[in-house]
Amino acid sequence: NEETVDSWIYTTCGYCGTGCGLYLGVKKGRAVAVKPNPSSSVNQGQLCLKGIYAWKTLEHPERATRPLRRVGEKMVPITWEEAHETLARKIREALEQGGPEAIGIYHGGQLTLEEYYALHKLAKGVLGTPNIDANTRLCMASTSMGYIRSFGIDAPPGCYEDLDTAEVIFILGANPAEMHPQVWQRILRNRQRKGTKLIVADPRLTLPASVADLHLRLRCGSNIPLVYSIIYVLIRENLLDWGFITKATAGFEDLKVAAQDFPPEVAQELTGVPARDIIQAAHLFGRAATAVTLFCQGVNQSLQAVDTVTLINSLHLITGKIGRPGCAPLSLTGQSSSLSMREIGGAGSLPGLRNPKNPRHRHEVARFWGVEEKILPQHTNDIHTMLELIDAGRLRVLWVIGTNPAVSLPDQQYVRRQLERVFLVVQDIFYPLETAYYADLFLPAAQWGEKTGTITNSERRVNLVQKVTQPPGKAQDDLTIICQVARNLGAGRLFPWPGPEEVFNELKELTRHRPNDLTGITYNRLKAEGGIQWPCPEGAKTGTARLYTDGFFPTDPAVSQAYGEFNANPGRAKLWAVPYHPPSPFKDPDYPFWLNTGRVIEHYHTRTKTKRILELNVLIPQPFVEINPQDAAALGIKEGDWVKVVSRQGWVKVRARVTPVVSKGEVFLPFHFGDLDPGERQQPQAANHLTSRITDPISRQPLTKVGTCRLEKI
Ligand code: SF4
Repeated sequence: NEETVDSWIYTTCGYCGTGCGLYLGVKKGRAVAVKPNPSSSVNQGQLCLKGIYAWKTLEHPERATRPLRRVGEKMVPITWEEAHETLARKIREALEQGGPEAIGIYHGGQLTLEEYYALHKLAKGVLGTPNIDANTRLCMASTSMGYIRSFGIDAPPGCYEDLDTAEVIFILGANPAEMHPQVWQRILRNRQRKGTKLIVADPRLTLPASVADLHLRLRCGSNIPLVYSIIYVLIRENLLDWGFITKATAGFEDLKVAAQDFPPEVAQELTGVPARDIIQAAHLFGRAATAVTLFCQGVNQSLQAVDTVTLINSLHLITGKIGRPGCAPLSLTGQSSSLSMREIGGAGSLPGLRNPKNPRHRHEVARFWGVEEKILPQHTNDIHTMLELIDAGRLRVLWVIGTNPAVSLPDQQYVRRQLERVFLVVQDIFYPLETAYYADLFLPAAQWGEKTGTITNSERRVNLVQKVTQPPGKAQDDLTIICQVARNLGAGRLFPWPGPEEVFNELKELTRHRPNDLTGITYNRLKAEGGIQWPCPEGAKTGTARLYTDGFFPTDPAVSQAYGEFNANPGRAKLWAVPYHPPSPFKDPDYPFWLNTGRVIEHYHTRTKTKRILELNVLIPQPFVEINPQDAAALGIKEGDWVKVVSRQGWVKVRARVTPVVSKGEVFLPFHFGDLDPGERQQPQAANHLTSRITDPISRQPLTKVGTCRLEKI
């Protein structure tokens, strides 16, 4: 109701990577409503349920309002001075006892670009620790490595506008109807307006699959043979862009030889998709003048994830469907600022899409920060390695910021054992919280709407989020907390900023002349223009809608993030002849079902926010397992029955949802739910009790979509 609001403040949705523009309504200094920004090119005047109710968590009674310190079994309130000093002291002690390796930082993908920058400057430029990672390891690490291996840098080549001009949209391992609802609405509008053809490859009969022109219902874990077979048909029928292949790529002959192993009839055996459908998909894709491939966790969290991303990229490279309107392999990022994270330090990189193994890149950052020789010549360790270091007694202090590993990481029993063993600092917006159950020190943080900064969405669009209201109680914004810890460690001169805009102005200097050049962007421009896509060098009138329009790729080792890790012909994209590893090692007669974990539209990540929004939580208040009707009948399981789902890692007890959405022999559980009480082992319900610590060998992303399990009726 417009009359109940004093003013509407321009900002951006803080949930998924779509990056919808919105206004936050404020009355007497309090956020009271949200409405879509009608001039946002991203969401075009619409919002999904999560966006509409986003303001409701701002003044929730369970917001954390004061720092807490463990004393015996209890957490007791302390002052900020004590909290900052405790953290600084524990870090100093860990440094003395175990060196920089004894400190670990694990943070979320929903911080602002400015907060990431400050945190990574502290970790890499002050502490010199090899241990800093983000929960983007769980969602975008494979895409990140796949882009680097194909194109030289981690950058989505296209934009949402390409969805408007594409003749064909190929959705592989993504469910935008649930996870990126405004991307899905855009696809639907285009289908209605101009009849865009839709191909969906998904083991489940999702909403996109149910309305697609062609649903390729592949078996869990069979992305590689499917994409290879489409490439096979494209090559066999010469549906290729030879001009582009010759001018802009390297490795075609190797790719061609590798694809020969996957005629559609063979792929049918490996994927379960009829050969005629694979051929039809190749025809639709190859004969269209323009095509976009959208992909997400069904690729990133599945077998040979990085390899699959490179094959998707190759699909576009050999058909010349990249670098022009309506053509792109476009990954959908899960969190609102996952891509900001990747610009600053994702994939173990350095700001400005630099590689720490490249002496020149390392030196550029070290000299800019004034910390010569501090930055390690290596990619930083992932969270799994950090947990192993805790297990080995080498990592002593773990600082967790804005993420909830006691729900989200695979193999929960193992994870929780490590959280119990380390001095755990948890910085978050709610208390209680599953991970905070294990905390020794808890720091209450400000959230979206209570702080200003920038976030970058799936199409490289840098957007502004604005502070419209004060954080509750004594909660502080993450940037303030990070800078104070740095000052307590004696590194204050490196953290001199009065506010986030000054951080942004510093960090963008590190992107000057780099592929993600931000030097033409200011906060005022972001407000005026509704977000700007990088690169946007100083003096540029607009951002850059799509990359590689000249067919030139940043694979030169001097520029690339792939320094020394593979040989690419400078300026050319790489076509990878990836191997195929059949999923047989996963098969086990004791665990005959494929286990697929995923998401629902009503919830976000570990429900930290969405379980506290009545309008959302009431729709899906508890976890469930989807079981195919044939399997349910064979096991005597009916809709709503309690079922024990058992894997090699653990078990959960959840309600059955009997549905043909899943294929026979496969089950699906949403991963959002934590245990009712994380310390109580009687009724576990977090899906990650079931998942394993097996990761993609290149990206170290867990393969949480391809586990195995059995079902027991209770
Ligand atoms: Fe927010 Fe994503 Fe929904 Fe847009 S689609 S309103 S960014 S949750």
